[in-house]
Amino acid sequence: MRGRTTGVHALTSIAIRGVSRSFATVDGTLPVLDRVSFEVPERSVVALIGPNGCGKSTLLRIVAGLLRPAAGQVELDGAAVTGPDPRIGFVFQEPRLLPWRDSAGNIGYPLELAGWSRARRDDQVRDLLGLVGLREFAGARPHELSGGMRQRVSIARALAMGPSVLLLDEPFSALDALTRERFNAELLHLWERTETTILLVTHSISEAIFLADRVVVLSPRPGRVVADLPVGIDRASREANVDTLALGQTATLIRRHLAGATDDPTPAELTAELHRRQRERPVRIEDLGEPAWFDPFGPESGT
Ligand code: ADP
Ligand code: MG
Repeated sequence: MRGRTTGVHALTSIAIRGVSRSFATVDGTLPVLDRVSFEVPERSVVALIGPNGCGKSTLLRIVAGLLRPAAGQVELDGAAVTGPDPRIGFVFQEPRLLPWRDSAGNIGYPLELAGWSRARRDDQVRDLLGLVGLREFAGARPHELSGGMRQRVSIARALAMGPSVLLLDEPFSALDALTRERFNAELLHLWERTETTILLVTHSISEAIFLADRVVVLSPRPGRVVADLPVGIDRASREANVDTLALGQTATLIRRHLAGATDDPTPAELTAELHRRQRERPVRIEDLGEPAWFDPFGPESGT
């Protein structure tokens, strides 16, 4: 799997060094990022969390070479990023699929642009559809897919060129809580099967702790790094304790650094929710089975 779907590029590390950026607005200049520095070692997962409008998306665009910093620079494997780089795959908050193209056509689009032959493209698209569990939906257009499936297509498209870096901008924020948990677990499995370095923007503390090796917390705008915290929980026990991650020590630290600038539930709300869930129906990832959105045609077609 690995050799064909990914691995076109070697492992890549990201270094963000003293990055500042502002935007011109009608009433002057809006400082958005203030000397942001942190590193994402090769093949690690770093979550970036911070209040709305603190510059998270701006920073991702700078890392992707889509926007220039006013000061500082981003390095991939020690070399400055000066423009879009084929080593980087970008997953936007909204899937941004071409509505007239089916899943295969959307996933293959970057490969067409890159001039891949038809046969090579078809091979790669088939692998990617398998990787994100959408083989049966190769011919479905975006409007025929659920929100979750559209986001999978968009992840597969980001993986099309075999990137060694995956930048994800709140990729699951439009999905409901259970679908989101499932997607997070899938993202980890995907990460295990590929060799990507991941920088993920999220506004969910539990999502950050579930996915990342480290969590970088930004201040309100202009975004500065206020904390860079290791997640000292091994991955196996994260999946088993997904319901309680937001109550642990790391979560408490993140919450303190965010100083209330989060729409995550409070620990008291989480505890109440946890008790409610356990009373009603204990939920574990492995119990979830195939999600309902696997079958967009609903009960009519299945029975
Ligand atoms: P976040 O993703 O953390 O919510 P963004 O990086 O999207 O924040 O935006 C940070 C701030 O910069 C916001 O106030 C936003 O309105 C502003 N901003 C982003 N892009 C532009 C732009 N191209 N021109 C002017 N202002 C922008
Ligand atoms: Mg954003």
